[in-house]
Amino acid sequence: MNCPRCQHPLAVTHIDDCKTIIEVDKCPNCEGIWFDKDELSQIEDIIEPMFIEIRDIPDKQEQFETLQCPKCNNSPRLQKAIHPRDRKVVIDYCPYCDGIWLDKGELEAIQQENFILTIAKVFACLGHVRARKK
Ligand SMILES: [Zn+2]
Ligand SMILES: [Zn+2]
Repeated sequence: MNCPRCQHPLAVTHIDDCKTIIEVDKCPNCEGIWFDKDELSQIEDIIEPMFIEIRDIPDKQEQFETLQCPKCNNSPRLQKAIHPRDRKVVIDYCPYCDGIWLDKGELEAIQQENFILTIAKVFACLGHVRARKK
């Protein structure tokens, strides 16, 4: 897979949370991270959904650029989900394979506890956003 943002090949990275190790695909250039659906469900299994607190992220025009799914064959466009309590955080997700792309700035902004708990909160938040749209 290649990075949806800068097209560099993604590298497999392991995130070790003591309890579990998950495998994600990370861009060595822009440091964004792609999460497959399977990777998400591993996280959902171990963490209860919680609300998310997000600190300041500078408004970035590039967050609103349309990206294409790095995983699906026909490269569908990723959908934007905006955090309900912080509109500066824009999460890209694929409606076909349910993968999620997080840019580096987004990760830094939400990293306050352990990494997996942080990500679990993002997913809980995303589920909230998607449920609301239906
Ligand atoms: Zn990249
Ligand atoms: Zn996809």
